[in-house]
Amino acid sequence: MRITPCQAALAAAIALNLLVLLCSLLAPTAAPPSSSSSSSSSSSCRHPAALPGVTVILRDFPDGPNHDVAATARSFSSLPGVPVLVATEVAPYPPVPLPAGVTVLPLRPQPHRPPPRPDSAVRTLHVALVPDGARAVPGLLRRMRDALEASSDATTKVVAAAVGTLRPRCLALDVDIKAWTARYGHADPGADTCGALDGAPAVLLLRTRDLFSLPFPLTRPVATSVSLQAALRGWRLRLLPDSFPLAPRPPLSPHEQWKAQNSLEKQRRTLLELFGIKLEVLADGQRRWHGCAKDTPRCFGTIHAQTPQYLLAGRWTPPCCLRALRATARHVVAELEAAGVRYWLEGGSLLGAVRLGDIIPWDYDVDLGLYRDDLPKCRWLAAVLATGRPLEDPEGFFWEKAAEGEFFRVHFSRTNRLHVDLWPFYARPDGLMTKDTWLGHRQDVEFPESFLVPLVPVAFAGIAAKAPNDPRAFLELKFGPGAIENPEYPNPGVRRLAQDAQREPPR
Ligand code: ZN
Ligand code: MG
Repeated sequence: MRITPCQAALAAAIALNLLVLLCSLLAPTAAPPSSSSSSSSSSSCRHPAALPGVTVILRDFPDGPNHDVAATARSFSSLPGVPVLVATEVAPYPPVPLPAGVTVLPLRPQPHRPPPRPDSAVRTLHVALVPDGARAVPGLLRRMRDALEASSDATTKVVAAAVGTLRPRCLALDVDIKAWTARYGHADPGADTCGALDGAPAVLLLRTRDLFSLPFPLTRPVATSVSLQAALRGWRLRLLPDSFPLAPRPPLSPHEQWKAQNSLEKQRRTLLELFGIKLEVLADGQRRWHGCAKDTPRCFGTIHAQTPQYLLAGRWTPPCCLRALRATARHVVAELEAAGVRYWLEGGSLLGAVRLGDIIPWDYDVDLGLYRDDLPKCRWLAAVLATGRPLEDPEGFFWEKAAEGEFFRVHFSRTNRLHVDLWPFYARPDGLMTKDTWLGHRQDVEFPESFLVPLVPVAFAGIAAKAPNDPRAFLELKFGPGAIENPEYPNPGVRRLAQDAQREPPR
């Protein structure tokens, strides 16, 4: 009996469908609770995405009743052969009538159910993330898929098409994990791909395996979360000229508008917190800070072995903390100078000033030395000395005597304990400057008073602060030769600078 190519194709399709059926039966969700081998037996079916076609996932829709999930789902499920999934922590409430064949994909783990496995719910090779209110256009998802597959550039992993009449802007995006920073910029006008979209909703189409290779494939807002993760992998995005229509909506009341805006802002903040992004630099240069207000606790916990936890995570000081530390240092310096207190940059702070005119990018505090005899000249220090109690000055900085020894601390605020340490020194009869509390750090040594007469200005944290004359000799006395030229973390026994791959040469 001869088999025609048509019959062969049909047989192959049937076989593939049987395989998918088998996989779904063996998948952990369907396995009996007693099955101990379910994970191994289904390993070959872990990524069942094998069928040609595009699965539509609805993920970004407003919480509460003002969404368009049912109509968006209906529109896309009317396309032949396009499965539609509504991916959500909590099923829309009040319940919405979803068209037959549209599946709700619960994302929130529940103690009595198998863990959510959104990747195993997608059977097609491609997946489209569709924003709420979009309407299907016959053939457009296929064109997006073809554009992705036809791309000569292997780094193009996302194809986008606008939703509505507004065209999103295509931006450059650089995410610097070590600096907790996402930097947007104008995309290279010559390039036809970019890093992120801004200003209008869009459908994003990816290979299913690419989407689910991301640790956060479906975290909202998905366009932001996918572009941040894409930027970290060098993936590029191509925006097609085509667009999907956006369904007209009844206008929201001002209160509903406020609620929608608020909830989107909250989603964005949660996402950035999750990804550890504390500074966004927008394309127009505007900065959005996350974390480190006077009323939030310090972004990192107590320091052990001079090594903050963020260093062990391969990150440097959060930029919001550096900013708050600079503000505290400028405030303290202004107070000391106004009061005529003789002070100077100490330890790592002086090292930072000489190296780069700023706080060292992985440092966690600022250290100043001062003449013990001058303490009473500063009214805040005098008050702390007189009462033995901490005090908050009118600008919200918090002055206290350190519990750890004979020195003082000025915190960014009562709540946010980023601080400047003030170390009182006095001259011994032999002319060496000494103090009463030693923490056993390498740089904690006595030094000749001649370094302080006179004090000299150096650039630090945006101001001119006072430093010992001959800062190089002072630093080499404290840290050893080459301290300026050879940056190292405060405790190389715990973590060395060389362990962290450099994005830019150390300064
Ligand atoms: Zn901070
Ligand atoms: Mg320090």
